[in-house]
Amino acid sequence: MNLHEYQAKALFAEYGIPVPPGRVATTAAEAQAATAALPGGVWVVKAQVHAGGRGKAGGVRLCRSPEAVAEAAAAMLGQRLVTKQTGAAGLPIHQVYVEAGSAIAREIYLSVLLNRDRGRVAFVASAAGGMDIEEVAATEPEKILRVDVDPAAGLQPYQCRRLAFGLGLEGGQIAQFERIARALYRLYLERDLSLVEINPLIVTRAGELVALDAKINVEANALYRQQALAKLRDESQEDAHELEASRHDLNYVSLDGNIACMVNGAGLAMATMDLIQLHGGAPANFLDVGGTATAERVTAAFRLVLSNERVRAVLVNIFGGIVRCDVIAEGIVQAVQQVGVKVPVIVRLEGTNAEQARSALAASGLAITAARDLTDAATKAVALAGGARVPA
Ligand code: GDP
Ligand code: MN
Repeated sequence: MNLHEYQAKALFAEYGIPVPPGRVATTAAEAQAATAALPGGVWVVKAQVHAGGRGKAGGVRLCRSPEAVAEAAAAMLGQRLVTKQTGAAGLPIHQVYVEAGSAIAREIYLSVLLNRDRGRVAFVASAAGGMDIEEVAATEPEKILRVDVDPAAGLQPYQCRRLAFGLGLEGGQIAQFERIARALYRLYLERDLSLVEINPLIVTRAGELVALDAKINVEANALYRQQALAKLRDESQEDAHELEASRHDLNYVSLDGNIACMVNGAGLAMATMDLIQLHGGAPANFLDVGGTATAERVTAAFRLVLSNERVRAVLVNIFGGIVRCDVIAEGIVQAVQQVGVKVPVIVRLEGTNAEQARSALAASGLAITAARDLTDAATKAVALAGGARVPA
């Protein structure tokens, strides 16, 4: 789960990581009023959306008067911001963050994340901050510094110094950097985060380190014990289909194709998508209904995949291991009747009670195409969806 920049910065402040003073606002008047509480004659108005790349997309504006702050806020609020990271539809701006402007001497990149290969929390830093870090990694990998933290020992002072020296920090900045890194490590562990990214961490003209941007991703599986963070969720920033899926505990990812998939088990779902592609089709989604699919979940899943208007066929692929195929068949019949499915439904069922399931589908009188095996299912789905095509 992502946090907004202003929420992430509030957490930074709580952990003693320096951030510029700021106020969140939902109207232009509020944004203008906020300037009275923020020192200096320069302010920055920042669109609060769950995406980076705002600066280049007009979502970060430097203003030299309270009136200019109101104008910038009015121009952003209620609009959608399209950045390199959002896709063409962009994300809605419901809030802006007004900050006291900073005088920047240098921009540094710093992040904390999980190195899955080594099973350790890792710090990644680069003196080439303020830029697209993926691009730096691709074109100038030597500019990226990494430190993996031993979970038993914790982040060590020498590791902080190694990063600080590598970043070219000097004098008091080295101790400042160490304080920030240690606070970030504590924040990362205590709040069950999966990513903290500060791009840029700046050195001000006065030589102070300040987090100018803040991105935090909270590990979704830990939200049950991070109630305060769970409350910060902003559903307006999430994909509508994926949001609906999460309400039903369904594992769903939107894709660009036209064949909806409904599968139990993530591995089988991946294999199903591969077979659709192999036979010239393109999946409309990834959907794992889980190992304990019930008739109700199957109905919810049908509603979900059909809410995508690109869908021209539905491929149901169930292996009855823990679930019973006859229960799934009942769910399919119920769903097709309730939801009013107007596109072909191709079903491949195998495993526990598969025979009963096939008879139940046949007896239902509904236009459901039975498939003998997975290849047969994929071929039929591609044909019924309008034939093979070159995926975009
Ligand atoms: P992002 O584009 O979504 O990553 O948003 P950032 O918060 O990183 O802001 C983008 C860029 O705006 C930064 O890299 C800075 O160069 C610039 N910027 C942001 N805040 C300030 C500020 O207070 N003063 C100045 N001079 N530039 C700023
Ligand atoms: Mn940034």
